[in-house]
Amino acid sequence: MGLNIVMLGPPGAGKGTQSARFARERGLPKISTGDILRDGVKEQWPVALAAKAKMDRGELVDDDTMVAIVRERLSRPDAKPGFVLDGFPRTVAQARALDQLVEERGSGPLVVVDIVVPEQELVRRLAERRICSGCGTNAEPGEAAAAACKRCGGEMVTRVDDDRNVVMERLKVYQRTTRPLVEYYRERPTFRVVNGAQPPDRVAHELDTVIDDAAAVGGAVA
Ligand code: AMP
Repeated sequence: MGLNIVMLGPPGAGKGTQSARFARERGLPKISTGDILRDGVKEQWPVALAAKAKMDRGELVDDDTMVAIVRERLSRPDAKPGFVLDGFPRTVAQARALDQLVEERGSGPLVVVDIVVPEQELVRRLAERRICSGCGTNAEPGEAAAAACKRCGGEMVTRVDDDRNVVMERLKVYQRTTRPLVEYYRERPTFRVVNGAQPPDRVAHELDTVIDDAAAVGGAVA
Protein backbone atom coordinates (compact mmCIF):
# COMPACT_ATOMS: atom_id res chain seq x y z
CA MET A 1 0.00 0.00 0.00
CA GLY A 2 1.26 3.50 -0.83
CA LEU A 3 1.20 6.64 1.24
CA ASN A 4 -1.31 8.81 -0.58
CA ILE A 5 -1.77 12.21 1.03
CA VAL A 6 -4.25 14.99 0.23
CA MET A 7 -3.57 18.33 1.92
CA LEU A 8 -6.72 20.40 2.25
CA GLY A 9 -6.92 23.94 3.53
CA PRO A 10 -7.56 27.47 2.25
CA PRO A 11 -4.98 29.52 0.32
CA GLY A 12 -2.38 30.70 2.82
CA ALA A 13 -2.87 27.80 5.25
CA GLY A 14 0.70 26.57 4.66
CA LYS A 15 -0.23 23.64 2.42
CA GLY A 16 2.61 24.33 -0.03
CA THR A 17 5.32 24.66 2.63
CA GLN A 18 4.16 21.66 4.62
CA SER A 19 3.54 19.46 1.58
CA ALA A 20 7.04 20.19 0.25
CA ARG A 21 8.68 19.34 3.57
CA PHE A 22 6.66 16.20 4.16
CA ALA A 23 7.19 14.95 0.60
CA ARG A 24 10.95 15.59 0.80
CA GLU A 25 11.28 13.78 4.12
CA ARG A 26 9.31 10.75 2.94
CA GLY A 27 10.76 10.58 -0.57
CA LEU A 28 7.40 11.18 -2.24
CA PRO A 29 6.55 13.57 -5.07
CA LYS A 30 4.75 16.74 -4.04
CA ILE A 31 2.14 17.34 -6.68
CA SER A 32 0.84 20.91 -6.68
CA THR A 33 -1.71 21.55 -9.41
CA GLY A 34 -1.14 25.31 -9.03
CA ASP A 35 2.61 24.82 -9.67
CA ILE A 36 1.90 22.56 -12.65
CA LEU A 37 -0.34 25.24 -14.17
CA ARG A 38 2.11 28.08 -13.45
CA ASP A 39 5.00 26.06 -14.97
CA GLY A 40 2.77 25.28 -17.93
CA VAL A 41 2.10 28.98 -18.50
CA LYS A 42 5.86 29.67 -18.50
CA GLU A 43 6.39 26.88 -21.00
CA GLN A 44 3.50 28.13 -23.16
CA TRP A 45 1.61 24.89 -22.75
CA PRO A 46 -1.81 25.43 -24.45
CA VAL A 47 -3.88 23.86 -21.63
CA ALA A 48 -2.21 26.13 -19.07
CA LEU A 49 -2.48 29.22 -21.26
CA ALA A 50 -6.20 28.54 -21.62
CA ALA A 51 -6.44 28.33 -17.81
CA LYS A 52 -4.42 31.48 -17.14
CA ALA A 53 -7.25 34.04 -17.18
CA LYS A 54 -9.15 32.03 -14.56
CA MET A 55 -6.04 31.65 -12.42
CA ASP A 56 -5.34 35.38 -12.56
CA ARG A 57 -8.89 36.10 -11.38
CA GLY A 58 -8.69 33.53 -8.57
CA GLU A 59 -11.35 31.31 -10.16
CA LEU A 60 -11.15 27.56 -10.48
CA VAL A 61 -10.02 25.86 -13.67
CA ASP A 62 -12.54 23.28 -14.97
CA ASP A 63 -12.64 19.82 -13.41
CA ASP A 64 -11.95 17.85 -16.61
CA THR A 65 -8.71 19.74 -17.24
CA MET A 66 -7.55 19.32 -13.65
CA VAL A 67 -8.42 15.62 -13.46
CA ALA A 68 -6.57 14.96 -16.74
CA ILE A 69 -3.48 16.76 -15.38
CA VAL A 70 -3.52 14.76 -12.15
CA ARG A 71 -4.24 11.46 -13.89
CA GLU A 72 -1.17 11.93 -16.09
CA ARG A 73 1.03 13.05 -13.18
CA LEU A 74 0.03 10.13 -10.95
CA SER A 75 0.83 7.68 -13.73
CA ARG A 76 4.55 8.58 -13.61
CA PRO A 77 6.92 6.13 -11.90
CA ASP A 78 7.92 8.48 -9.05
CA ALA A 79 4.30 8.48 -7.82
CA LYS A 80 4.21 4.70 -7.46
CA PRO A 81 5.08 4.64 -3.73
CA GLY A 82 2.57 7.42 -3.07
CA PHE A 83 2.19 11.19 -3.38
CA VAL A 84 1.39 14.40 -1.58
CA LEU A 85 -1.33 16.34 -3.38
CA ASP A 86 -1.40 20.09 -2.74
CA GLY A 87 -4.28 22.06 -4.25
CA PHE A 88 -6.14 19.06 -5.63
CA PRO A 89 -8.94 18.10 -5.25
CA ARG A 90 -10.74 21.43 -4.94
CA THR A 91 -14.26 20.30 -5.81
CA VAL A 92 -16.34 17.27 -4.90
CA ALA A 93 -16.26 16.18 -8.57
CA GLN A 94 -12.44 16.19 -8.46
CA ALA A 95 -12.51 14.25 -5.18
CA ARG A 96 -14.72 11.58 -6.75
CA ALA A 97 -12.37 11.34 -9.74
CA LEU A 98 -9.40 11.01 -7.37
CA ASP A 99 -11.09 8.19 -5.45
CA GLN A 100 -11.52 6.39 -8.73
CA LEU A 101 -7.90 6.98 -9.75
CA VAL A 102 -6.65 5.63 -6.42
CA GLU A 103 -8.91 2.62 -6.77
CA GLU A 104 -7.59 1.95 -10.29
CA ARG A 105 -4.03 2.10 -8.91
CA GLY A 106 -5.04 -0.36 -6.19
CA SER A 107 -2.88 1.68 -3.83
CA GLY A 108 -5.31 3.11 -1.27
CA PRO A 109 -6.09 4.50 1.20
CA LEU A 110 -6.11 8.27 0.88
CA VAL A 111 -4.99 10.10 4.00
CA VAL A 112 -6.73 13.50 4.02
CA VAL A 113 -5.46 16.30 6.22
CA ASP A 114 -7.37 19.58 6.65
CA ILE A 115 -5.11 22.46 7.74
CA VAL A 116 -7.33 24.96 9.56
CA VAL A 117 -6.44 28.69 9.90
CA PRO A 118 -8.75 31.63 10.80
CA GLU A 119 -9.64 33.93 7.89
CA GLN A 120 -8.00 37.17 9.21
CA GLU A 121 -4.74 35.28 9.58
CA LEU A 122 -5.01 33.97 5.98
CA VAL A 123 -5.53 37.48 4.58
CA ARG A 124 -2.50 38.71 6.52
CA ARG A 125 -0.30 35.85 5.33
CA LEU A 126 -1.35 36.13 1.68
CA ALA A 127 -0.56 39.87 1.68
CA GLU A 128 2.99 39.02 2.80
CA ARG A 129 3.57 35.95 0.66
CA ARG A 130 6.44 36.03 -1.87
CA ILE A 131 7.31 33.53 -4.56
CA CYS A 132 10.48 33.23 -6.68
CA SER A 133 10.01 34.56 -10.22
CA GLY A 134 12.68 32.11 -11.40
CA CYS A 135 11.91 28.70 -9.89
CA GLY A 136 8.57 29.18 -8.10
CA THR A 137 9.85 28.46 -4.58
CA ASN A 138 7.79 30.05 -1.77
CA ALA A 139 9.62 32.30 0.70
CA GLU A 140 9.73 30.91 4.23
CA PRO A 141 7.18 32.58 6.52
CA GLY A 142 8.71 35.67 8.13
CA GLU A 143 11.59 35.84 5.63
CA ALA A 144 12.50 39.41 4.59
CA ALA A 145 10.47 40.46 1.54
CA ALA A 146 13.59 41.77 -0.23
CA ALA A 147 15.63 38.56 0.15
CA ALA A 148 16.63 36.69 -3.01
CA CYS A 149 15.49 33.09 -3.59
CA LYS A 150 17.49 30.63 -1.48
CA ARG A 151 17.38 28.00 -4.19
CA CYS A 152 18.25 29.88 -7.38
CA GLY A 153 18.97 33.49 -6.33
CA GLY A 154 15.98 34.71 -8.36
CA GLU A 155 13.85 37.73 -7.49
CA MET A 156 11.06 37.17 -4.94
CA VAL A 157 7.78 38.66 -6.16
CA THR A 158 4.12 38.79 -5.12
CA ARG A 159 1.99 36.23 -6.91
CA VAL A 160 -0.47 37.87 -9.34
CA ASP A 161 -3.32 36.14 -7.57
CA ASP A 162 -2.20 37.33 -4.12
CA ASP A 163 -3.48 40.82 -4.96
CA ARG A 164 -5.97 41.77 -2.22
CA ASN A 165 -9.13 41.63 -4.36
CA VAL A 166 -8.10 38.34 -5.87
CA VAL A 167 -7.26 37.00 -2.41
CA MET A 168 -10.79 37.78 -1.23
CA GLU A 169 -12.18 36.04 -4.35
CA ARG A 170 -9.99 32.98 -3.73
CA LEU A 171 -11.15 32.74 -0.13
CA LYS A 172 -14.77 33.06 -1.29
CA VAL A 173 -14.23 30.33 -3.90
CA TYR A 174 -12.67 28.20 -1.20
CA GLN A 175 -15.64 28.58 1.13
CA ARG A 176 -18.14 27.89 -1.63
CA THR A 177 -16.52 25.09 -3.60
CA THR A 178 -13.71 23.53 -1.64
CA ARG A 179 -15.12 23.63 1.87
CA PRO A 180 -17.79 21.00 0.95
CA LEU A 181 -14.85 18.66 0.32
CA VAL A 182 -14.24 18.53 4.04
CA GLU A 183 -17.77 17.22 4.42
CA TYR A 184 -17.09 14.71 1.64
CA TYR A 185 -14.09 13.30 3.51
CA ARG A 186 -14.99 13.91 7.16
CA GLU A 187 -16.45 10.52 8.00
CA ARG A 188 -13.45 8.57 6.72
CA PRO A 189 -11.21 6.89 9.31
CA THR A 190 -8.19 8.40 7.50
CA PHE A 191 -9.40 12.04 7.72
CA ARG A 192 -7.50 14.33 10.14
CA VAL A 193 -7.55 18.02 11.13
CA VAL A 194 -4.42 20.05 11.95
CA ASN A 195 -4.22 23.51 13.55
CA GLY A 196 -2.36 25.61 10.96
CA ALA A 197 -2.29 28.78 13.08
CA GLN A 198 0.91 27.74 14.87
CA PRO A 199 4.60 28.20 14.03
CA PRO A 200 5.56 26.06 10.99
CA ASP A 201 7.63 23.54 13.00
CA ARG A 202 4.69 22.90 15.34
CA VAL A 203 2.36 22.42 12.38
CA ALA A 204 4.95 20.04 10.89
CA HIS A 205 5.11 17.98 14.07
CA GLU A 206 1.32 17.76 14.34
CA LEU A 207 1.07 16.81 10.66
CA ASP A 208 3.63 14.02 10.94
CA THR A 209 1.83 12.60 13.95
CA VAL A 210 -1.65 12.62 12.44
CA ILE A 211 -0.50 11.30 9.06
CA ASP A 212 1.37 8.38 10.59
CA ASP A 213 -1.61 7.62 12.79
CA ALA A 214 -4.10 7.80 9.91
CA ALA A 215 -1.85 5.73 7.65
CA ALA A 216 -1.63 3.03 10.30
CA VAL A 217 -5.42 3.03 10.66
CA GLY A 218 -5.82 2.87 6.88
CA GLY A 219 -3.23 0.12 6.43
CA ALA A 220 -0.78 2.24 4.38
CA VAL A 221 3.01 2.04 4.62
CA ALA A 222 4.15 5.21 6.42
P1 AMP B 1 -2.79 27.32 -6.03
O1 AMP B 1 -1.35 27.57 -6.28
O2 AMP B 1 -3.05 25.91 -5.56
O3 AMP B 1 -3.42 28.34 -5.12
O4 AMP B 1 -3.53 27.44 -7.45
C1 AMP B 1 -3.50 28.64 -8.20
C2 AMP B 1 -4.68 28.68 -9.15
O5 AMP B 1 -4.61 27.56 -10.07
C3 AMP B 1 -6.04 28.55 -8.50
O6 AMP B 1 -6.53 29.78 -7.99
C4 AMP B 1 -6.87 28.00 -9.67
O7 AMP B 1 -7.16 29.04 -10.61
C5 AMP B 1 -5.90 27.05 -10.34
N1 AMP B 1 -6.00 25.67 -9.75
C6 AMP B 1 -5.02 24.99 -9.09
N2 AMP B 1 -5.44 23.78 -8.71
C7 AMP B 1 -6.74 23.69 -9.11
C8 AMP B 1 -7.75 22.68 -8.99
N3 AMP B 1 -7.51 21.52 -8.35
N4 AMP B 1 -8.97 22.95 -9.53
C9 AMP B 1 -9.22 24.09 -10.17
N5 AMP B 1 -8.33 25.10 -10.31
C10 AMP B 1 -7.09 24.90 -9.79
